[in-house]
Amino acid sequence: MTTPREIAADIREYLRSNSAVCAEGAAHGWRWLRFCAGEWRAVRYCSGDERRSSYVEGRVFDDDEALDWIESHPATLRPTAEAYRWDPAEQTVWEDACEQDVFSDFDRCFWCGGSDRDHDLQEYQTVEDGVCSLCDECHTAWADAGEIVSTAGKGRGAKA
Ligand SMILES: [Zn+2]
Repeated sequence: MTTPREIAADIREYLRSNSAVCAEGAAHGWRWLRFCAGEWRAVRYCSGDERRSSYVEGRVFDDDEALDWIESHPATLRPTAEAYRWDPAEQTVWEDACEQDVFSDFDRCFWCGGSDRDHDLQEYQTVEDGVCSLCDECHTAWADAGEIVSTAGKGRGAKA
């Protein structure tokens, strides 16, 4: 008899050979999973409590984690070009992830997820979240909200 895990393994093999297809899970946690650039990439948007809701959080799964996720999440297979948080949306989660350098070695803005590649990030001592890297735009918003204690030093815009 075919087991759920065998079905999940078949889906995993399908995803592995189709980088233009991702699985979208209906449950909480990691919402989308895709095999891309030789790795399993899981992504979700943040809830909006601790990060801006457009912030894309990502994690790389190993083969077993990918299998576990597929087995435990009733998932819809869909083209990566249609993986939106909601409709209508301008960009897919994968485009947002790429723009925010979720799977690259760049520092990111604590609040919006903006990459150091195209945002000037600076570290600040904040009231509730300790030392955070923020882009100019988010820093302005946080300063207006009284969340900034001081400039923490590191960063390209740091003044001695
Ligand atoms: Zn920002």
